[in-house]
Amino acid sequence: MHSLADLAAWSQPGTSLAVLGHPIKHSISPAMHNAALADLARADTRFADWRYHRFEIHPDDLPQALTLLHEKKFRGVNLTVPHKIIAFGRVAAIDPAAQPVGAVNTLRWSGEGWHGFNTDGYGLATAVRESLGRDLAHTPILLLGAGGAARGAGVEFLQRGCSALWIVNRTRETLDQLLGVLAPLQGGIPLHGLTLDGLGAGSDTLASLPTGLLVINATSAGLRETDPLPIELGLLPRPSAVYDMIYNPPQTPLLRRAEALGIPHAHGLGMLIHQGAKALEIWTGVPAERTAPTMASAAHAALGLVEG
Ligand code: NAP
Repeated sequence: MHSLADLAAWSQPGTSLAVLGHPIKHSISPAMHNAALADLARADTRFADWRYHRFEIHPDDLPQALTLLHEKKFRGVNLTVPHKIIAFGRVAAIDPAAQPVGAVNTLRWSGEGWHGFNTDGYGLATAVRESLGRDLAHTPILLLGAGGAARGAGVEFLQRGCSALWIVNRTRETLDQLLGVLAPLQGGIPLHGLTLDGLGAGSDTLASLPTGLLVINATSAGLRETDPLPIELGLLPRPSAVYDMIYNPPQTPLLRRAEALGIPHAHGLGMLIHQGAKALEIWTGVPAERTAPTMASAAHAALGLVEG
């Protein structure tokens, strides 16, 4: 793991890529990207000297880090918490699809400055299709959460033409903020906001929900074993599938509940893998489908998981 001081003194040869975070210690992105780069290098010597490094950068130091990354000729940058939102207001250009997300997780130097992209939505859509066999288009979706990940997901669902979107959040204020962001993207798609306390057993709201919802958890409830369920699945009209963005731990209380109810379900590692493969495509031009399998093997190995 490297620091801002390491970056200022950077003299490593070859083509460098970086991920910046605070904290960054547990990131498995370097394992995924370096495995994919090593695999690419076997077939194409252009990639022989490409390496992906991780940097612990305090949010106050992000502007300086971005300047140094350019001076040191880094080809591309991934950003994780809390830099995705901070960088959004500091880069020279934003990919139009990332504009409503208000956050960027991938940067590429464009000549005049860093150009920001957001590959999380692609990662989510690809993982849901791969692990649950569901397309977001024409699908009714129940999204849990209203934070940064939910915002990216909500934008993706509307951009891909889901048939209706319900968003459930614990706190009304953050829910209303998200609904305000999504309203201009809604087109004709029905969009509803609900708070958890309005979803008690026997409530009118519950009765009005359709069966066959695709439930996506974008809350952080489930990161710890003692966390409450983000929703009681047994109270909903039978969902078609449940996707939990959390991947560590891979088995959250929500996914255990889905399993007990016999509902198809998947954890969030596929989302991480596919957003990474898309970022590598932005830097190398190599299609994400080509590098995703190698990234998947490396990610499963890094987390000690059986590949599924
Ligand atoms: P965030 O901005 O902090 O938002 C957290 C959300 O979780 C808020 O909606 C919050 O509700 C809700 N929440 C927190 N604790 C809760 C609880 N005990 N019960 C019910 N709701 C609760 O976080 P984020 O960046 O959006 O990340 C959310 C999750 O997505 C994290 O677990 C993260 O690891 C995961 N994620 C995964 C990937 C991937 O590649 N797989 C990518 C991005 C994020 P309030 O508004 O009420 O506080």
